[in-house]
Amino acid sequence: MSPPGSQRAAVATTIDRSGVREARPAKPTYDARQPIGQRWEVERGVLASQRRSLTVFLAGAECPFTCLFCDLWQYTLPSQTPAGALPHQLAGALAAAAPIEANDAIKLYNASNFFDRRAVPPGDLPEIADLCSPFTRVTVESHPKLLGNACADFADRLSGRLEIAMGLETVHPTVFPRLKDGMTIEDFDTATTWAKERGIGVRTFVLVGLPWIAEESFAGWAARSALHAIEAGADRVSLIPLRAGSGTLTELRKRGELAPIRLRHLEDALEKALGLVDGAGLVEADLWDVPALATCDRCADRRVARLATMNREQRIVDSVECSCSTDRGSSDGPAPE
Ligand code: SF4
Ligand SMILES: [Zn+2]
Repeated sequence: MSPPGSQRAAVATTIDRSGVREARPAKPTYDARQPIGQRWEVERGVLASQRRSLTVFLAGAECPFTCLFCDLWQYTLPSQTPAGALPHQLAGALAAAAPIEANDAIKLYNASNFFDRRAVPPGDLPEIADLCSPFTRVTVESHPKLLGNACADFADRLSGRLEIAMGLETVHPTVFPRLKDGMTIEDFDTATTWAKERGIGVRTFVLVGLPWIAEESFAGWAARSALHAIEAGADRVSLIPLRAGSGTLTELRKRGELAPIRLRHLEDALEKALGLVDGAGLVEADLWDVPALATCDRCADRRVARLATMNREQRIVDSVECSCSTDRGSSDGPAPE
């Protein structure tokens, strides 16, 4: 199969996104010599093992695509990433994260595409690969259209296994083209096949709570999208609650085209996805900042703990009993403003 990147010339923006970039507020300023941040977490492995994973948030050039929901532009530099900046950032992050233990994994998230030459200068890739030599798995983010020879070469240079994180977001046939820029669902499938044929792992992002989808269908579409990703060959799916960080999403919410996302939506989505995927791959709820989705103080901690248990054990566990549920069916309370 030819590399997905060879089809780049055929990429067309699927809807007119003029105005999306203009609607963004000013972004913060970052130092090209410092990573934006880093954090350790423990992840469930494919073989039911637990593994420490270090996520390093690198500061680099902004993504050239304009996906409607994306808020990653806030964490980028105003221009092309300077040569040498990313190895310097990574070396600093690794020194701060030491000691690295056997079987640790790393995610290099640059708020863009790792194989975009403006975001990650190709001359820096060998040094980045060397810096990642203590890790058994190295995860980077990429748009499906940017996979190709640079990705395959980087995978070959690593001591550990490369994993590509790709956003599918949804397989809803009319919502997908309104959200995503420069790709189709078939591009995701092609890129996943291409990666898996080379022994490269695939992690997929699916969004929970999208505009133009009724609130009661949030979970169902997230679960169907997770199943699609796994059937296409992805190893694992992260269910991510949509964060309305872009001016356009805020506007859609004001117009009533985007229902507020609550903790129960994420619980419902994970339950449904675990049921549909049925062990064919890993499905997890992204727990970053999820307490902010809670609307009931009495049960919020227990609901987050339940999600963590389901992530770890990959099975549906008993739902949380709270008076807010009986007040509003399966709700965890009234919608936040
Ligand atoms: S390709 Fe990824 S980083 Fe770029 S706008 Fe889309 S979601 Fe954001
Ligand atoms: Zn409650």
